[in-house]
Amino acid sequence: MSDCIFCKIANGDIPTEFLYSDENVVAFRDLNPQAPVHVLVIPKKHYASASAVEDDSVWSNLMSSAVKIAKQLELDKNGYRMVINTGEQGGQSVPHLHLHLLAGRNLGWPPG
Ligand code: AMP
Repeated sequence: MSDCIFCKIANGDIPTEFLYSDENVVAFRDLNPQAPVHVLVIPKKHYASASAVEDDSVWSNLMSSAVKIAKQLELDKNGYRMVINTGEQGGQSVPHLHLHLLAGRNLGWPPG
């Protein structure tokens, strides 16, 4: 998608430091962090939201990468949260599937 900001990040059009990258997934720090650690994990391929995914391997790649990154950052010691906002009421603002990896403070529940 030529006008998608996360596609531009994934394909290098917007220079971004990746915490993790493989053939399917990249991860980078959120521009507006909501916790001391706030990483976005995205598929390189464009999916407008979780609802647009039809291939199960997208989920295994995304989730296993997120858990790998959490371990690399040693977030598993104190815990972390993974969130996928989906659609308008789900709070999704960027229409490219992304997983938020949040950690570094006590995260409230229920979410706002
Ligand atoms: P969501 O509201 O779930 O769609 O999350 C989108 C997230 O993307 C927000 O937390 C934004 O702060 C973040 N974001 C938007 N643009 C960028 C960018 N260029 N680089 C890093 N994070 C971004």
